[in-house]
Amino acid sequence: MTRANQNFLKLPGSYLFSNIAKKVAAYQSVHPEADIIRLGIGDVTLPLAPAIVEAMHKAVSEMGVKETFRGYAPDLGYEFLRSAIAEHDFKARGVDIAIDEIFISDGAKCDSGNIQELFAADSKIAVCDPVYPVYVDSNVMAGRTGSYDSATGLWSDVIYMPCHAENGFAPELPEVVPDLIYLCFPNNPTGATLTKEQLQKWVDYANEHHCVILFDAAYEAYIHEENVPHSIYECDGAKTCAIELRSFSKNAGFTGTRLGFTVIPKELHTEDGASLNALWARRHGTKYNGAPYIVQRAGEAVYSAEGQAQTKEQIAYYMENAKLIYEGLKSAGYTVSGGVNAPYIWLKTPDHMTSWEFFDYLLETAHIVGTPGSGFGPSGEGYFRLTAFNTHELTQEAIERMKTIK
Ligand SMILES: *Cc1c(COP(=O)(O)O)cnc(C)c1O
Repeated sequence: MTRANQNFLKLPGSYLFSNIAKKVAAYQSVHPEADIIRLGIGDVTLPLAPAIVEAMHKAVSEMGVKETFRGYAPDLGYEFLRSAIAEHDFKARGVDIAIDEIFISDGAKCDSGNIQELFAADSKIAVCDPVYPVYVDSNVMAGRTGSYDSATGLWSDVIYMPCHAENGFAPELPEVVPDLIYLCFPNNPTGATLTKEQLQKWVDYANEHHCVILFDAAYEAYIHEENVPHSIYECDGAKTCAIELRSFSKNAGFTGTRLGFTVIPKELHTEDGASLNALWARRHGTKYNGAPYIVQRAGEAVYSAEGQAQTKEQIAYYMENAKLIYEGLKSAGYTVSGGVNAPYIWLKTPDHMTSWEFFDYLLETAHIVGTPGSGFGPSGEGYFRLTAFNTHELTQEAIERMKTIK
């Protein structure tokens, strides 16, 4: 008899973004004339930069010629890309990362979901609340649950670290020491960041208590402020306690092209002495056959002078939207945060509405779609996420509408 992996059955059946899509479709079918503006999307909208497209075309041509054709990529990624990463993302920031500490993949979603495989089945994890759902769900799939509290929707083996206005959306060091700590800064969904001093405290805590930090830096290119670290390895001692996850998706528009990487320093060991770098290399070799050559060449082009200039321009475009939203809503009397070092604006729902009440209200009165904060965790209740990934024109129009309904 076949039986399902019972851990999968512990997950809630429906997914936040499919619930949203259903609600929007239902509204649209009754109100076909409604000109809906989508500020809920966590996906880039500008096309790939010309330098990237050019590199892809060149790589496609090479693949069609006998002399330059390539088969399987090396498991851990092509050296041309790994050395460009080591140089531009790390050395340029004073951080020494060797190329065999960089593992190329098809994106940070896979890596952030798979990395938990390296740790003992009974590991306890800590996540920020609100949270990028992949961190929790991938651990529930692996059986790290404990008991379920149906009132809160929480598992006892998953420590939720509340992030709210009172602590500036920065989690406090947990009293019960976890084994793994997921941190994502700049944060999705709140748009909050940690200063270097704040992140250093986490690194010190992890080293002292022998935890491993899984640091998701998918939004590092959106950082504008000086004292916000782009990499956790800018903090002293991070190489003995932290893994860093990176993505080309939001930084360079690769959401549909697929490319990311994970950094695991060779100094990083579990308490029982295993090299996490060696385990991940072994895991990659077994379960992964490498990101496409064409895409890795496209990734290399992100680091060229033109690629850097063009992707910077795209990020500036999104960040102008973030500013429009942040300042427009603030002047209209909304309580807003984020939006300075991230393409996300996190707002308090007005009049004590729940996140889903505000979702409906905004859809029905202003024809705007956003994301209910409660979908990211219990501390997201009463909050709402808007994103900067639309055009200036529609973003401006959405903010005008939100002013009139406040
Ligand atoms: C978008 C996003 C990623 C990137 O995922 P990819 O698989 O690389 O597209 C990773 N982490 C967070 C928090 C994100 O929002």
